Amino acid sequence: MSKFWSPLTASLEPYVPGEQPKDKKYIKLNTNENPYPPSPKAIVAMADAINEDLRLYPDPNCESLVTTLANRHGLQPKQIFVGNGSDEILAFAFASFFDPSKPVLFPDISYSFYKVYAKFYGITPKLIPLDEQFNIHVEEYVGEHGGIIIPNPNAPTAMLMPLDHIKLLLEQNPEQVVIIDEAYIDFGGQSAVTLVDSYPNLLVIQTLSKSRSLAGLRVGFAFGSAELIEGLNRTKNSFNSYTLDRIALAGAVASIEDETYFVETSAKVIATRERVVQQLEELHFVVTPSAANFVFISHRSIPAKQIFEQLRVEGVLVRYFASPRIDNYLRVSIGTDEEMDALIKALHILTVQ
Ligand SMILES: *Cc1c(COP(=O)(O)O)cnc(C)c1O
Repeated sequence: MSKFWSPLTASLEPYVPGEQPKDKKYIKLNTNENPYPPSPKAIVAMADAINEDLRLYPDPNCESLVTTLANRHGLQPKQIFVGNGSDEILAFAFASFFDPSKPVLFPDISYSFYKVYAKFYGITPKLIPLDEQFNIHVEEYVGEHGGIIIPNPNAPTAMLMPLDHIKLLLEQNPEQVVIIDEAYIDFGGQSAVTLVDSYPNLLVIQTLSKSRSLAGLRVGFAFGSAELIEGLNRTKNSFNSYTLDRIALAGAVASIEDETYFVETSAKVIATRERVVQQLEELHFVVTPSAANFVFISHRSIPAKQIFEQLRVEGVLVRYFASPRIDNYLRVSIGTDEEMDALIKALHILTVQ
């Protein structure tokens, strides 16, 4: 606490990201980064963007990227917003669409950043419990509220909600904005982007950080009705006109255009996941059905915290949440086949006597 902090800053409870350790070389399966490099075409495009034009501000409307996304998804540019990572878009969306006089609804187990944004804007979260198998029941997302946000697939459970349930959610709540955070949708899910034309209250948020291997670039997108996108632009232009730099714009456009590479690397991650799920089950782990680039696992007899600590000693980093209901689970990102072989080998030693 400092006497120099505003009451707002003093009241905040900032998000704590998964560690990026420097002490030794770890097999890093703790922040859901993609194990494969970004598209080589994106790397060339970014290198080309490092030139004298950097003396000029970037395009504040990010037209090149917006147009590329509009073409890919069959939408109009006015239905698309881009930002400095989807976290930034989430922060703008909370400010733009959620009425602080009413609670915002999200699952009790979901992306922990939502509580942080709610706190920042003085919004009260109303947590809707997942059932014992971590399923979301959309019929519970009703009543007097100021908006809804749900990750699909959910994080950290990795579980996918079918598009039919999202439609129901949108139809039950026509007066509020429903945000679907699709950070992991490319690993086996069906995107709600196809619903954008039909539901003016839907905002779908995606990112280049996971399926496009560009967590280091910080680029995210939102798809929604023109009125929602205009709302996001009003908020953005009250903070910073230039959230994406010239290099990020060039890399993002080239990455989106390289569909072949994206399909190939996503398929590799999915294939590795399916193999690893089977091996984990053989080692007596309970594995939730994953449609993401990570798995959420619990051992039938050994506490998760103990496995987490022992894996760390063995040089394998995974994510452990000391939170109610999930403190006996580990979230493990899908790495390369070699990395996952090393994980399975370490788990074999730790769990089989
Ligand atoms: C990783 C993640 C994000 C953040 O993505 P960035 O685009 O890197 O900011 C948002 N939501 C969920 C659920 C995530 O897991």
